[in-house]
Amino acid sequence: MRALTPGDNVGLTERLPPRPMPDTPPLPAVLISEVGPRDGLQSVAITMPTQHKLAWIRALHAAGLREIEVGSFVPATLLPQMADVAEVVRDAISLPGLTVMALVPNLRGAESALVAGAHKLTLPVSASLAHSLANVRRTPQEMVAQVRQIVALRDATAPGVQVEAGVSTAFGCTLQGLVPEDEVIRLALALAEAGVDEVGLSDTTGMANPAQVKRLFTRLRAELGDQAGAAHMHNTRGLGLANCLAAWEAGVRTFDASQGGLGGCPYAPGASGNVVTEDLVFMFEAMGVSTGVDLTRLMAAREQLRAGLPGEPIHGMTPEAGLPLGFQYAKPRATA
Ligand code: ZN
Repeated sequence: MRALTPGDNVGLTERLPPRPMPDTPPLPAVLISEVGPRDGLQSVAITMPTQHKLAWIRALHAAGLREIEVGSFVPATLLPQMADVAEVVRDAISLPGLTVMALVPNLRGAESALVAGAHKLTLPVSASLAHSLANVRRTPQEMVAQVRQIVALRDATAPGVQVEAGVSTAFGCTLQGLVPEDEVIRLALALAEAGVDEVGLSDTTGMANPAQVKRLFTRLRAELGDQAGAAHMHNTRGLGLANCLAAWEAGVRTFDASQGGLGGCPYAPGASGNVVTEDLVFMFEAMGVSTGVDLTRLMAAREQLRAGLPGEPIHGMTPEAGLPLGFQYAKPRATA
């Protein structure tokens, strides 16, 4: 039998065997969700070879990261960087205590991700009609219907798997400009109603500011309670950390970030893509908010990234400056 590829429609109807799920102790105060192997690698022109991806993910895990978005189940014709995603998932689920997350744009991708053994699926749904049509050729409403089908597939075949939706372009869109906050909240409510476990907000285009972030996440948490999810911030205009801090002040406790701010933006030279994991971990630890991540090991993982993408710019202020004299890690939350 030929190996499944992300584009295959496997027609999954049977319940899959239970997958070993990661254990959770001890709890840091915030969860840093590393998205570099997905968001970062899909934004660079060169493809990181599979063996380098696996080595990089292992190094990130060794640094203490406990949730990693390892790839995207999209057809290899669209994103050749992600052609090996099933193999990457299968390797990453062997790492102890790691929640292996995969982005799935549609039902077909969700089937492949579940068969590969992913612990958590993340589904991007754009709040901007223009962005949604350009990106997935579907309206946000059509995407909500798709999400409902993915939740049904999860319920029928792999009930232990988490499903998260991320509202993309939640803070602005390069195609349509302003995205009304009421529309973002309405979409988040529709996604929660469709059965996802969490709904996060993404600054896909790097347009957010801290006042807006605080306002929107405060509203999201008031509307969704525990179903309010992660902050996914980009550093296109240098506000990534400020936006994460604003989200934290609004009660957010899960943050997406990417090692070395991988990705960047061709229109903002010198700007990183996602908020830089190293700088975000440093900020929280220095504030006394534990992340569970060891900065020395995290910085060492940059060598794996460099080896896999020679010549690609890798960002981060903390790795440049080093840890300050007298730096101390925050204490993790006591486990029950
Ligand atoms: Zn992103």
